[in-house]
Amino acid sequence: MLLTGKEYLESIRDGRRVYVGRERVEDVTMHPAFRNAAQSFAMIYDRKRAPENRDVMTAEQDGETFSSYFLLPRSREDLHKRFETHRRIASWTHGLLGRSPDNFPSYVSGLVMDPAMFDGIRQGFGDNIQKYYRHMRGNDIFASHTVTNPQGWRPPNPKDTEKRTPPTLRVVDEDDAGVTINGLKMLGTATAFCHETWCGNLQPVAPGAEKESITCAVPLNAPGVSIWSRRPYEKYAVSEFDNPLASRFDENDAAVLFENVRVPWERVFCHDNVEMTRAIYMRTPGHAMANHQANVRFLEKLKLIVGIAGLVADMNGARSVPAVQFTLGRLAAMEATLEGLIMGQINAGEAHPNGYHTVNRRYVYAALHWCTNHHAEICDTVRELMGAGVFQMPADASVLQDEKLRALFETYWSVPGQQAQDRMKLLNLAWDLLGSDFAGRHMQYEKFYAGPGFVMNSYSYLTGPWAEWEAQVDELLASYHAPGARPGT
Ligand SMILES: Cc1cc2nc3c(=O)[nH]c(=O)nc-3n(C[C@H](O)[C@H](O)[C@H](O)COP(=O)(O)OP(=O)(O)OC[C@H]3O[C@@H](n4cnc5c(N)ncnc54)[C@H](O)[C@@H]3O)c2cc1C
Repeated sequence: MLLTGKEYLESIRDGRRVYVGRERVEDVTMHPAFRNAAQSFAMIYDRKRAPENRDVMTAEQDGETFSSYFLLPRSREDLHKRFETHRRIASWTHGLLGRSPDNFPSYVSGLVMDPAMFDGIRQGFGDNIQKYYRHMRGNDIFASHTVTNPQGWRPPNPKDTEKRTPPTLRVVDEDDAGVTINGLKMLGTATAFCHETWCGNLQPVAPGAEKESITCAVPLNAPGVSIWSRRPYEKYAVSEFDNPLASRFDENDAAVLFENVRVPWERVFCHDNVEMTRAIYMRTPGHAMANHQANVRFLEKLKLIVGIAGLVADMNGARSVPAVQFTLGRLAAMEATLEGLIMGQINAGEAHPNGYHTVNRRYVYAALHWCTNHHAEICDTVRELMGAGVFQMPADASVLQDEKLRALFETYWSVPGQQAQDRMKLLNLAWDLLGSDFAGRHMQYEKFYAGPGFVMNSYSYLTGPWAEWEAQVDELLASYHAPGARPGT
């Protein structure tokens, strides 16, 4: 099934509990803190099934038509189809929706490639993951993933005097029908707009905390689930002209609370296994496939940032200055570097058991590392090109609605070839991307969405072919000898 935008909006009017501060949001599709972002997600649902995108963005199997981001790749062509699907979605939203509907399906597509691994956790979990994949694919499900624990709750220190059960999500009961879960999970980006959330652990879970290893999928309107939104930037956007991005693309992040929520066994994928709750993502291509989507999404955002850099340099009359061209050239080279890394993920794909062909994992992790480590620097470079222009502009677009002030504004703020209003429009866009509250959230998102910085290094460390590299050094060392030493000593 391919949902229309209208059907998607209808499907999330389901009685879910979303809180903004103490306010209970009745309907995210109508509420001023969420409605435009909901429309942006609906736009993705409509456009991916439109005739001009359908060939690329849909796939078929067993008589079923589904979104291409559920395609289980078996060839380079399949990887390219998935890439182009991610790219189109990211381009429509300028890479600003990190957890767009194509993100989590990429995890599940990787996980379902190895049902036997899930059966190794507990017999029947392999069947569960296959049915869940078919459920998501068949119903065009939009899911978030809450796989991080509340900050500050590390494994208990034996010296702690306060003995309190941590609020981290855990199983508190189980019976023939399923498990009961209780506790908090972080940080559900886009959860307010999803149908379901996948709870699990991308962070290690300590031995002894087996009940926290629960990995399961939960509908967001299930009894006991509540979604606690952070400050929503859409709500505080002054207007589309003033905050062109925050007003449309605030995907929201939320803590998700589970108060004695019942989960049937069919939706449980890991239980009582601290090793596998994290390993499922790494031993399958799930983590790499989802982060491939993230790399593609980042690339589209980078194109927007670089485009803004060029236009800002034009606006300031600085484009012909060699030093400014060097800066723009550096940004262009950075964009090409990332694009090349992503192409490598597809063109040097990896054979995976059971006939699958997946993205090159090392290149995914190298790109992830690159994005995490360069985003702030890139934004800072463009802010430097902007100078003080943004603060020379009036507080908001209301100035344009006053005839007398507008005339003054156009007289004194315009420069040859550029109307004041157009300068303000570009600077508002640039600031919303690079300086506003919304931009600040993006700064934090790009630093942390895939885990803290040191984890980025560890992904590359763990997947590096060290034996091959070190054998080369050993071979070289063996080719010469210390003075006076006999060969072989
Ligand atoms: C905007 C945003 C959206 C997010 N969306 C999602 C989502 O959709 N789903 C999801 O599950 N999670 C999401 N996350 C959460 C993300 O996965 C975590 O922020 C990340 O894993 C880091 O965990 P933490 O925030 O608890 O920071 P902490 O683990 O508390 O780390 C804080 C700082 O301490 C440092 N630090 C901590 N321990 C060590 C150590 N052992 N060695 C070295 N340094 C250390 C870290 O490097 C970091 O700088 C999101 C985060 C943000 C900011």
